[in-house]
Amino acid sequence: MKLIFLIAAALGVAFGSSAASAAGVERLYVLDCGRLSAPDQSRWSPGVDEGKAMEFVDNCYLIRHAQGWMLWDTGIPDAVAAMPNGLEPADPKSPFWRRPKTLAAQLAELGVKPSDIKAMAISHTHPDHIGNVEEFPQVMLYVQKAEYDWPNADGTPRFKPEHPVTKVEGDHDVFGDGSVVLLSTPGHTPGHQSLLVRLPKAGAVVLSGDAAHFQSNWDNRRVPGFNFSKEQTAASMQRIADILAKEHAQLWINHDKPQSDAQKKSPDFYE
Ligand SMILES: [Zn+2]
Repeated sequence: MKLIFLIAAALGVAFGSSAASAAGVERLYVLDCGRLSAPDQSRWSPGVDEGKAMEFVDNCYLIRHAQGWMLWDTGIPDAVAAMPNGLEPADPKSPFWRRPKTLAAQLAELGVKPSDIKAMAISHTHPDHIGNVEEFPQVMLYVQKAEYDWPNADGTPRFKPEHPVTKVEGDHDVFGDGSVVLLSTPGHTPGHQSLLVRLPKAGAVVLSGDAAHFQSNWDNRRVPGFNFSKEQTAASMQRIADILAKEHAQLWINHDKPQSDAQKKSPDFYE
């Protein structure tokens, strides 16, 4: 009788550990997905720090979940890494782009092939976030429907129609276990989203997307003049603040250089 019980328990463990039901985030990697040099910080903080130059980082994040790899944001295009002087913007008020390392090289360093990635999500469709989406043409893309349906200025769609997509409306629990949750935080763009990641040791982290671009803008609730909706941005910042308090979570601001410089970078990781 005891033997039968042990066999049943062993089978239960075996089924319990199958890939479909495996739960939890195992690792979070911070990837270098580019640098932005801006001539005037007040583009993001109207009326404040006018004419003051600012350096931004542009991070991507790789999550190792028990069910597979997930990529959050893709940075500026890898092709920029081959440009010796970076990419100068058409509009001189826009940031100058550089890409010290490719996303492809950073994944290769970890032994992760593009085809190994199970899911990808982007915070929004600005070019410093979607630059490498089509390096992963088969990977399921999670994007807010409002963002997906928002056409480019010239009326063209923002994604290739053949790219597999899950159009999310509101929050979405990506792996069904509460460990990786897309948070609807519109305002910067119509379908902007952020990402709640529950790490087993480091605790909960909210990856900002561009809900705020740097710490002083977050602290003072400043909204860039070019955002899609000032009111929605303010409401989304308050929503994130409430989630941080409830979850005892840290806010990792994607473009904040001082914060990013203090973080562990891939191949190192957070658990
Ligand atoms: Zn950005």
